[in-house]
Amino acid sequence: MEYQSLLIKYAEIGVKGKNRYMFEDRLVRRAAAVLRKIPGRFQVYKSNGRIYAEASEAFDLDQAVEALQHVFGISGISPLVQLPLMPPEEMRQAAADYFEKAHPAYGGSFKVVATRANKAYPWDSNEINRQVGEEILSRLPESRVDVHRPELTLRVEVREKVNFYSETIPGPGGMPVGGTDKAMLLLSGGIDSPVAGYMVAKRGVNLEAVYFHAPPYTSERAKQKVVDLATQVAAYAGPIRLHVINYTEIQLAIYETCPHDELTIIMRRYMMRIAQTLAEQNGALALITGESIGQVASQTLKSLVSTNEVCTMPVFRPLIAFDKQDIIDLSQKIGTFETSILPYEDCCTIFVAKHPVTRPNPGIIRRSEEKLLPGINELVEKALAEDEIILCE
Ligand code: ATP
Ligand code: MG
Repeated sequence: MEYQSLLIKYAEIGVKGKNRYMFEDRLVRRAAAVLRKIPGRFQVYKSNGRIYAEASEAFDLDQAVEALQHVFGISGISPLVQLPLMPPEEMRQAAADYFEKAHPAYGGSFKVVATRANKAYPWDSNEINRQVGEEILSRLPESRVDVHRPELTLRVEVREKVNFYSETIPGPGGMPVGGTDKAMLLLSGGIDSPVAGYMVAKRGVNLEAVYFHAPPYTSERAKQKVVDLATQVAAYAGPIRLHVINYTEIQLAIYETCPHDELTIIMRRYMMRIAQTLAEQNGALALITGESIGQVASQTLKSLVSTNEVCTMPVFRPLIAFDKQDIIDLSQKIGTFETSILPYEDCCTIFVAKHPVTRPNPGIIRRSEEKLLPGINELVEKALAEDEIILCE
């Protein structure tokens, strides 16, 4: 079967009232961006409340579908045969030709659903259903019509052209990215944070990311792993500017000054502070982390509260109530899992105490942090000033 176009269906953005065109335009831009990377010379356009991707040269259907499955806002993708408007008898034949090619020697149940936007067309939709159904039955005697629970539905749309399609492949859902709203993702090399970024981006929020790097305790390979993860998330979320913050001196200062059972929590608090400053400097309105209640010592409820205390900006934790296995499943689905499990140390594993506090006392933590002053502020400023930005796309 040779398809020339794909019909792109969207669900949620359809209900956005006056802003609908904005969401549609974002979806069109993202779809065009992902399709530009594959053969087909696609043109993506809106027409009568629909979005089409039309190829002007040969393309691989699976590859095109896979590309569109990275575009948030798409609920379904239907490979489409589009023909110029033609007289009814010809259309009856063309619809059956399509059906036979798309489903060779079909022997199951089917139903024809015609719609007629073009009211001047000689046959109304019932007539089209009947005529096309008959033609298919005469060509494929093993098949049968079932109007209630058909295994296949052939759609025939009479518009300014005639559309035939009979398959809808699920898209990722969500809402298209590409507006002005942006959040800052704390991206480590682990399993969780890429998934957290994916989830917020899926609601149409653009991402910027920050990674705290601690050379020589963390290697170049560990940093490259984070760049790779950011690139994988960017395949869905659009281009991500990744800030690499050199955290070594800050980490050493904490290590030298604070009780070792408090290291993790204090390091996490400084990460949040720096991420918030970066977010403010770069127009991001919220932070995102991969935290999940109870997963590790630094994520008990008390620890989460302690980490949260240093932020005035909202912190989104989309995985907060997820089981680890569910997070793993999602990371496999979006394709970050294999990278996440590469065995390169992340900056916390070097400085982890054997018995970290799980119930940090707010007063005690604050007092430990006071001992870091004022030197720590200079280190933070220096780290921010030496911020390395990598564009991941
Ligand atoms: P992940 O799988 O995302 O690494 P985790 O289970 O290892 O999470 P922690 O190490 O406690 O959990 O980190 C909690 C969150 O803090 C991470 O999900 C991430 O958002 C952020 N984070 C931790 N380490 C770093 C880092 N080196 N750079 C940036 N963000 C980090
Ligand atoms: Mg981690």
